[in-house]
Amino acid sequence: MKTYRDRSLVPYSTMRLQAVGAEVHEPESVEELRELALRMASGRKTCHWLGAGSNVVFAERVKSPIVDLMHVDDSLSNLGGGRFRAGCSVRIQRLVRFAQKGGYGGLEYLFSLPASVGGCVYMNAGRGRGLGQSIANHLEAVDILELDTGEIHRETATPSAFGYRTSPYQARSCLVLGAILRLSPQSPDETERKIQERLETSRKWLDAGLPSCGSVFKRGNKFVFRAFRWLHPRSGALAFSRKTSNWIGNHGAGTLSDFKKLVGKMQRAHRMLGQECELEIRVFE
Ligand SMILES: Cc1cc2nc3c(=O)[nH]c(=O)nc-3n(C[C@H](O)[C@H](O)[C@H](O)COP(=O)(O)OP(=O)(O)OC[C@H]3O[C@@H](n4cnc5c(N)ncnc54)[C@H](O)[C@@H]3O)c2cc1C
Repeated sequence: MKTYRDRSLVPYSTMRLQAVGAEVHEPESVEELRELALRMASGRKTCHWLGAGSNVVFAERVKSPIVDLMHVDDSLSNLGGGRFRAGCSVRIQRLVRFAQKGGYGGLEYLFSLPASVGGCVYMNAGRGRGLGQSIANHLEAVDILELDTGEIHRETATPSAFGYRTSPYQARSCLVLGAILRLSPQSPDETERKIQERLETSRKWLDAGLPSCGSVFKRGNKFVFRAFRWLHPRSGALAFSRKTSNWIGNHGAGTLSDFKKLVGKMQRAHRMLGQECELEIRVFE
């Protein structure tokens, strides 16, 4: 396992905020992760568990240990009959391509996410609210590491236990080690068509030109979001996107303090209009 002190965190999040981690661990197997988790639990240390960093922003200095889960389990297996197992560190694009080769599909709408399988399960990644498509629809079971006891087990995933960008694991002290997914038979050509369609939609509607973390809020008023798109408020190097509602782009050396100022403006605007909003992005401090 690699361990770093005072490590730059810029490459660890797609938002690329200026940040340093006092302690960063990179376990390279499930066993190393389990030992580390038990050590942290016995020392009563609170950790930040990090996937591909596409939904996370960092404080200028993160004092709590950060554990990078991207080297823990990068394995993919075709279990037959449309069932696939993917380790938590697998990039979602690799899973989609692997299933495509086996003649299965159904997850192409996630192809544009710079995310890991573990992060997608934990966040229940999917399409926009109301479209009813998320990774939970394909989950058969999840391999879990219980953080307090170090126990590893497989549990059945019940789609009704998941909500919009929420999973049952968010309320527990556990990590997702891997997922068993059930996909549908689909020709490789059809999968390719859906991948290209997804990429085209992203190019058209999403502001991929700047580092970002996708949608900032998972709940809010779409008219307020749109107003911010046109007003384009800025703080330091960060600004709400002109192209995509509810996105913040990093134009340079953005920091968490800039991020918090912009988020605060959006929250105040909602409050003034008697509306509610809820942050989707996770803040590691
Ligand atoms: C350009 C862009 C487009 C996006 N589009 C979408 C979209 O269309 N739909 C959508 O749903 N999201 C979207 N997102 C947001 C993001 O990709 C998802 O939330 C994704 O699920 C995060 O996965 P990750 O591996 O990056 O997790 P991270 O951002 O690293 O972590 C997110 C949370 O998951 C936890 N976590 C990560 N891995 C594990 C694990 N193995 N076990 C337990 N907890 C874990 C972390 O502790 C953290 O709380 C987008 C982001 C970007 C940058």
